[in-house]
Amino acid sequence: MKPYGVVNDLKLLEYQAKELFAKYGINVQKSEIISDKAGISETIAFAGLEYPLVIKAQVQIGGRGKAGGVRFAENTAQLQEITDSLLFSELKGLVVNKLLVEEKADIKTEWYLSILLDRDKKSPRVLFSASGGVDIEETAANNPEAIASVLVNPLTGLSDYVVRYVCSKSGIGDGYFDKLKDILIRMYGLFLEYSCILVEINPLVVKEDDKLLALDGKVDIDDSALFRLPDVVKYRDSLDDHPLVVEARLQRFLYIPLKTGSKVAVMSNGSGMIMSMIDLLNKEKIEVSCALDLGGGATSERIAEAVRITLATPGVDTLFICIFGGITRCDEVADGIKKAMEQAEGNKTIVIRMEGTNKNRGMEIIKTIPEAVSVTGIVDGVKTITRRFS
Ligand code: GDP
Ligand code: MN
Repeated sequence: MKPYGVVNDLKLLEYQAKELFAKYGINVQKSEIISDKAGISETIAFAGLEYPLVIKAQVQIGGRGKAGGVRFAENTAQLQEITDSLLFSELKGLVVNKLLVEEKADIKTEWYLSILLDRDKKSPRVLFSASGGVDIEETAANNPEAIASVLVNPLTGLSDYVVRYVCSKSGIGDGYFDKLKDILIRMYGLFLEYSCILVEINPLVVKEDDKLLALDGKVDIDDSALFRLPDVVKYRDSLDDHPLVVEARLQRFLYIPLKTGSKVAVMSNGSGMIMSMIDLLNKEKIEVSCALDLGGGATSERIAEAVRITLATPGVDTLFICIFGGITRCDEVADGIKKAMEQAEGNKTIVIRMEGTNKNRGMEIIKTIPEAVSVTGIVDGVKTITRRFS
């Protein structure tokens, strides 16, 4: 599989993060995923879950507890009632397509523990607070001293002093040294092996029997690493429900939805060019519906697919294409556009600027496409489009 070309951190859902936690031997509750309102009590019984249960909305956002996305059920009737109201509802603007049902844990204390990538220091950083849970943001804002923060030297790895510092600074004391060290080593393994930007457990629960339990989890992954993380690609593909984003991704294109309903789409083989196109169009008060980044070395078949996907965006009737033909050859591009336009329905216009390898051959092909207008530069293209809409 080829690498994905564009950096866009992947934020896993709680249940996905917890699957990775379990893989690394981090303690999580027994659970089951529900994505259907029917047959719930059977599913729960089959999974061997015992009441009381916690029902948690799976959306890529924190603060679910405060927004009503974490609920408790004592019996089947309550579970059904909560599922009926929560599943497929909207929580903070996101549709809840899955519920995580877990056995309710007993809680003595809620801690906060994370490892994140400190980009300034080019090192992982461990954050810990003995007052974790739903109010961690307030703690961070009003009482930052209550959060122990310590860098991990990436060459030597997670040394004992990191754990000792956390125990001492946070006030939990050395009694938890072994348990904290154990969980941190597991988190650090996950952090490195999955190219994480963040591995967070909040709350990290101390149970009545003093065992540690990951009650909630966040794992953010650098998507440049996805080419070597097939299990995570599977997670990602189950997350994004914008059909054109998914379709484009299957072809290794990056499709970025922008202003819904606008008539103009842009396409290029480079994000810098795409940003220039968007900025210059915006300057002329023209909104852009979506952008598609082809990446490098596209063949005519792939160009045709890219044009088809972009023009499939509802409302789009004008596609502005700028190509610098290096490995991507201009005649391949022109051929691809021609193929796509032969299949296109409705009244669509292509405004195209091409430069580089096989430009002349490409221009000859462009001349034979009735819907295509060739321009000499980005600015010329923007002027052409502005004239069409004024
Ligand atoms: P968040 O609000 O999105 O961060 O969701 P969490 O999963 O962190 O849950 C929020 C809060 O609900 C936690 O901090 C706990 O106080 C409470 N909670 C969640 N699960 C359980 C559980 O199994 N048992 C108990 N007693 N409380 C829970
Ligand atoms: Mn949480």
